[in-house]
Amino acid sequence: MNNTVQIDFLSRWQSVRSGATQLFQAVELLPDECECGDADAHLAGRCSCCGGHKQVSKAEGTGVNCAAILDRLRADIATLVKDFSSLAGPLEMAAMARQRVELRRGVFLAASDLERISEAFERVDHAVMGFRRTCAVPELKRVKLRSTELREQCERINADLEGEKSEKPQD
Ligand SMILES: [Zn+2]
Ligand SMILES: [Zn+2]
Repeated sequence: MNNTVQIDFLSRWQSVRSGATQLFQAVELLPDECECGDADAHLAGRCSCCGGHKQVSKAEGTGVNCAAILDRLRADIATLVKDFSSLAGPLEMAAMARQRVELRRGVFLAASDLERISEAFERVDHAVMGFRRTCAVPELKRVKLRSTELREQCERINADLEGEKSEKPQD
């Protein structure tokens, strides 16, 4: 049996989930406005605009680097998708959509869940690219909104996983 693979898969899911939470928290700490215009430094929480905000410097050093968290999360999601498809078998995308993989005894992650996470992440990534380009307040607000949505998506799926046995209908 594939117990080891399944345990790894569960921990992959946990790291995606915690990465989404970290990203949400780090992004929330950033001031909406970056007057210096250095979007990358702002995302790393180290431009002069961030310096004036106590809550940022209070957060532990690199933990607030949104770009780093984003990169790690991107890699984690890619690994999760890769592991999923290796467990689900070499299926076509259409068949993949209906596939579910066991995370641990009786707990299944559906391909559609994974797809939702990937799409939510894409939207965060896209918003970040927008902010990098313009360094504008509405763009950063979009990054915050998209990060919130990604986190909510992860939490919703996780709640479904944990409440799987009651088979609640989705609203
Ligand atoms: Zn700035
Ligand atoms: Zn800043």
